Amino acid sequence: MNVTSTDRDLSKLNIDFKEKVDLFLSKCKSVFVTEGFRSKERQKYLYSKGRTIAGSKVTWTLDSMHCKGLAIDIGFLGAELYPKDYNKWREVFDIAAECGIDSGYDLWGRDLPHLQNNDSYNLIPDIMQNEQLIQDYKEMTIQEMSDQAKEWDCLKDFRNGLKILKKPLNYKDFRNCIAYGRILGINT
Ligand SMILES: [Zn+2]
Repeated sequence: MNVTSTDRDLSKLNIDFKEKVDLFLSKCKSVFVTEGFRSKERQKYLYSKGRTIAGSKVTWTLDSMHCKGLAIDIGFLGAELYPKDYNKWREVFDIAAECGIDSGYDLWGRDLPHLQNNDSYNLIPDIMQNEQLIQDYKEMTIQEMSDQAKEWDCLKDFRNGLKILKKPLNYKDFRNCIAYGRILGINT
């Protein structure tokens, strides 16, 4: 699969998450999945947008929930793929919540089309075994985090997060990093 194209094959999703997505899609007939599973290569490509290649930044992480098969992006059927009317999204998010799926917008105040598995914290022990992700956290530049934090107007949280990031990572610190990462809009 080409890094520029989206993968809509739901069978590649995490099996438990897929069950939730199936239920959600059976209840919510106004949307469809625009992207599900994402390869590491595609995530790297998306990450380079607005950094090393032209375009605006579309992601803040090299290890998205999409790469674990735990997230989908949605669009609306009909004339308006991404409706301007927030109420239309709200309706969909409420149905998703009933199915055990979180909205990225509810979590971070942005990224309307992004939906993901709602019990991510239970997955942290698995994430801890992901050397690449731990490495990504360590390599995140202070400038990158600072830019993002300014944009998000959450400098206090940013400073707290930074203190933690500068220390060696242990399990508790890592959990805190995830929590602060969420505040900073870094999708784990
Ligand atoms: Zn997404």
